Amino acid sequence: MNIVSTTPGGFHETDAVIIGAGPVGLFQVFELGLLEIKAHVIDSLAAVGGQCVELYPDKPIYDIPAIPSCTGQELTDGLLKQIEPFGPTFHLGQEVTVVQKREDGRFDVETSLGTKFITKTIFIAAGVGSFQPRTMKTEGIEAFEGSQVFYRVKDPAQFEGKNIVVCGGGDSALDWALNFVGKAESVVLLHRREDFRAAPASVAKMKQLCEDYEMQLIIGQVSGIETKDDKLSELRVTGADGVTRRVPLDMLLVFYGLSPKLGPIAEWGLDIERKQLKVVSTEKFETNVPGIFAVGDINTYPGKKKLILSGFHEAALAAFGAAPYIFPDKKIHMQYTTTSPKLHKVLGVESPVFD
Ligand SMILES: Cc1cc2nc3c(=O)[nH]c(=O)nc-3n(C[C@H](O)[C@H](O)[C@H](O)COP(=O)(O)OP(=O)(O)OC[C@H]3O[C@@H](n4cnc5c(N)ncnc54)[C@H](O)[C@@H]3O)c2cc1C
Repeated sequence: MNIVSTTPGGFHETDAVIIGAGPVGLFQVFELGLLEIKAHVIDSLAAVGGQCVELYPDKPIYDIPAIPSCTGQELTDGLLKQIEPFGPTFHLGQEVTVVQKREDGRFDVETSLGTKFITKTIFIAAGVGSFQPRTMKTEGIEAFEGSQVFYRVKDPAQFEGKNIVVCGGGDSALDWALNFVGKAESVVLLHRREDFRAAPASVAKMKQLCEDYEMQLIIGQVSGIETKDDKLSELRVTGADGVTRRVPLDMLLVFYGLSPKLGPIAEWGLDIERKQLKVVSTEKFETNVPGIFAVGDINTYPGKKKLILSGFHEAALAAFGAAPYIFPDKKIHMQYTTTSPKLHKVLGVESPVFD
């Protein structure tokens, strides 16, 4: 599926907003689609797939019904294919910051990039929260965030011709360090230990480039910074030998991984228990605010299991629970995708002939 993410800052009036494009948010699109409810999907990450893609894209999952084994990325690709007929609109790279009930019973929703929605229903499929980069804790470093210190690369061109230091030992750190060799003036990879989480092929390539004097690897931790003319000019790096060395630089890229934060969800007037959203019943998975549903890892109820399969079930029931807000005068019946001509029409498939 070709994901079209809209330009930030627009305004959309809709029946359903899904917060979170993890596996459960994606399947929510499907279940709403069967009921002819179109959805907008928002995620703070730039890619869809939630934990499956962010934390274990290449690892196999063995407990998805009828799929004996698939990776996190393959599951996501399959879900995207499955929701294709319903043409959801994605708004990626933006966190939902505001959810507010309106006088007309609908909700105002707003993102960190200023995209605004008015919606009849909301499905919070926010997993363990929105993923934020882990920051470097060195004193004084925060003053240079956005000018010389970065936690993600938005514009690679700004690092070209510069002396850059890349911190971290995972795939992002290695991929960007390798990417900037030959483009930056110099590249130093700084990691706290000899072992790397990154793909072995990237580690081998990095070591070869170090042997060829194309880049440098330093094992150590940032213990302080030096500034000159209000600019970050050097890092103090303490090695395992206890010796502190000075590393001059123009730009610092830090990839210490992502950590989930419940973030703004805590401020939307929803019942929360140990960082999860309580649902009123397991009949609809609706929260204490009528019209707002919670599905997947973000919700809690007696017996909850944080499994993808549980989230899929919750998404089906939440869609039925939400339908009366969208079609108050319509009686909604459950139908089989195998036999219902109506569902075949919404899925865009031919009706099979049964003997
Ligand atoms: C290593 C590992 C292995 C696993 N293996 C299995 C397995 O084998 N089988 C299984 O069933 N489960 C497994 N799980 C658990 C499974 O990944 C989760 O149950 C599943 O991802 C939950 O899906 P979700 O859609 O509810 O949430 P998530 O996948 O967490 O997705 C939530 C999304 O919401 C976004 N978000 C949050 N807050 C906001 C906001 N305010 N604005 C915008 N976006 C927001 C996040 O960025 C994220 O992309 C595993 C988990 C891990 C970490």
